[in-house]
Amino acid sequence: MRAIITGISGQDGAYLAQSLLKKGVSVIGLVRNSSSSLFGLQYLGIDREVEIKEIDLGNDQNVNSLFTELKPDYVFNLAAQSSVAESFRNPHSTILFNLHSTLNILSAIRTYSPNTHLYQATSSEMYGSVKSLPISENTLLNPQSPYAVSKSACHHLVKNYRSSYDIHASSGILFNHESVLRRKNFFIMKIIRTALDIQRGKQEFLEVGNIEIKRDFGYAPAYIEAMIKMVQMDDPEDYIICSGKSVSLKDIAYHLFDFLGIDRDRIRINSSLFRPSEISDIYGDNSRAKSQLGWEYNMDFTEVIEKIAIEYKENIYHD
Ligand code: NAP
Repeated sequence: MRAIITGISGQDGAYLAQSLLKKGVSVIGLVRNSSSSLFGLQYLGIDREVEIKEIDLGNDQNVNSLFTELKPDYVFNLAAQSSVAESFRNPHSTILFNLHSTLNILSAIRTYSPNTHLYQATSSEMYGSVKSLPISENTLLNPQSPYAVSKSACHHLVKNYRSSYDIHASSGILFNHESVLRRKNFFIMKIIRTALDIQRGKQEFLEVGNIEIKRDFGYAPAYIEAMIKMVQMDDPEDYIICSGKSVSLKDIAYHLFDFLGIDRDRIRINSSLFRPSEISDIYGDNSRAKSQLGWEYNMDFTEVIEKIAIEYKENIYHD
């Protein structure tokens, strides 16, 4: 079996490659250019086992040629400008890349590789502010950021190609999932790095935006398994992958600081870090993924943050 992973340099790409390799699937990882970091693959010790190819996913001819040549069994489309905050700063490039690359892949599968099964990374951000919780696959989309708009468009495109052209394509609607390989600008890694800097006397305070908001957080290596199960289903469908519980950013930060023995007074609110629009609370319903995919997940987020903090401190953080 052969799989293509776009966005191999990201958090999910690395863990997904690791899991697929363990299952005996050969992996081709796509990067935009040679400056994409392969730290995740190196950290997991699999950089020599993944074949890396450079490609502009926004160029339809390049994507068509790739699928004509490789005809992969699976493609996991993870590449995206994935930061909500960055999407407010750069809405054009976020929407253009995220949507265009997905359209190119769907079109290439349709014409040149119709037996390929596609996993499309979409996001809980698509639901925006909702009238009732938990969010399920039937909740109406109500995106509140350019990032969320781009992922909503991808989500509809996948549905459209699936029903119009009988393509095996599924969207994984993932809620926040974290690991030591999460990019440094995301909340969890930001607070872990800053907390360790405070312990070492390198910084005095952790500055945060609105930490009253609540999110449904999980552990990335466990969420990856649901992606693989989705492409292996007889019939493609979209699934919510989440922990099923929300926790406030404040509780997470307090738990981390208590765990590391740092005074909570070192956490400061900076209103300039508040976002133009913010969803107060979201959590999802993972029962369909559990019953239909057979996906298992029972981790509590306190367990996740402690695990990531210890691993980061021992293996990655430098004084
Ligand atoms: P990530 O660490 O931010 O990785 C994003 C990947 O996309 C990187 O490989 C990046 O390459 C690539 N990329 C970004 N812009 C690109 C461009 N213009 N051209 C080509 N490649 C580009 O994301 P992740 O956490 O692994 O998430 C994987 C996918 O799941 C993303 O689509 C994300 O939106 C979605 N998602 C993630 C979460 C989460 O909590 N992690 C939740 C819901 C959905 P470079 O290294 O070259 O920048």
